Amino acid sequence: MRYSDFDRRLAALGAQPVHRGRVVRVWLQGLAIDTGTRRRLSQDFLPLALREAVPALTAALDGLARIRSEHAGNDGTRLLVELADGQMVESVLLPRDGLCVSTQVGCAVGCRFCMTGKSGLIRQVSSMEILAQVVLARRLRPVKKVVFMGMGEPAHNLDNVLEAIDLLGTEGNIGHKNLVFSTVGDPRVFEALPRQRVKPALALSLHTTRAELREHLLPRASRITPEQLIELGEEYARDTNYPIQYQWTLLKGINDGKDELDAVARLLKGRYGVLNIIPFNSLEGGDYQRPEPERIREIVQYLHSRGVLTKVRNSAGQDVDGGCGQLRARAIGAEQV
Ligand code: SF4
Repeated sequence: MRYSDFDRRLAALGAQPVHRGRVVRVWLQGLAIDTGTRRRLSQDFLPLALREAVPALTAALDGLARIRSEHAGNDGTRLLVELADGQMVESVLLPRDGLCVSTQVGCAVGCRFCMTGKSGLIRQVSSMEILAQVVLARRLRPVKKVVFMGMGEPAHNLDNVLEAIDLLGTEGNIGHKNLVFSTVGDPRVFEALPRQRVKPALALSLHTTRAELREHLLPRASRITPEQLIELGEEYARDTNYPIQYQWTLLKGINDGKDELDAVARLLKGRYGVLNIIPFNSLEGGDYQRPEPERIREIVQYLHSRGVLTKVRNSAGQDVDGGCGQLRARAIGAEQV
């Protein structure tokens, strides 16, 4: 169910836009849809048909998704979320009231270092299912920032993602700058985002300055060169006045050499952005490794000395053995045994 379908259903019951906004606002707060919530909705002088439909509507909302399991770690808690058709996605409760949500089941981009990419695209996650991940998290604790960095490429599910962003930035009480659209880069994103009434912050997965290597690591990403990606990002950053977060998954012996560091320092010089270094979360038997801690420190120091604002971000939940997509992969594996 997309939000527009839900909204049409409310309109058919006689709800005016103000009532429809209120229903969604109550839901997005993360309140359990119980008798108290129903009473609040009823007190709002909703049309009788809508009041009578509240139990069925709330059951439909509650049926969108459920938390199948929680995996606590030092840097975040991963939630394995089961959707109504049994498909599973991951959300991550991040420090400082952040939440990372998934936008697709699987992903077509096929990044070589990503577990989600191995399954290919299974299906899109609807705007209501994206919002349901926020609601489930809010039932556990406050959520003041939502990053679209979980399973899936948001640019490949643009309508649903933009609808969810719009709702979170209007009815969901989240500052626009605290909504972070993360993408490998797609021309449609740079056309669509500047036109939105809720303009999210932007994270761009750069990973390397070498176009050929990028094509190898991100085999089905749009063929935008690193230079073009930074140009487009800079335009959006100046337009919104938010810095771009350039993402760099650090892979030992692949993109951690001095040549890459010098090239990225050159490309980001004077740009309105920050470079997030994400040391790879090594998988047993995987093709890629995480650089040693000492090397990571050297890289950050070197980039700082070259004037690049650099931060090290650990992928949330890594100490619970869950890089993006691993929980889902394990759950499916367990079911197949
Ligand atoms: Fe898709 Fe992101 Fe994984 Fe790449 S890293 S395959 S874009 S989910």
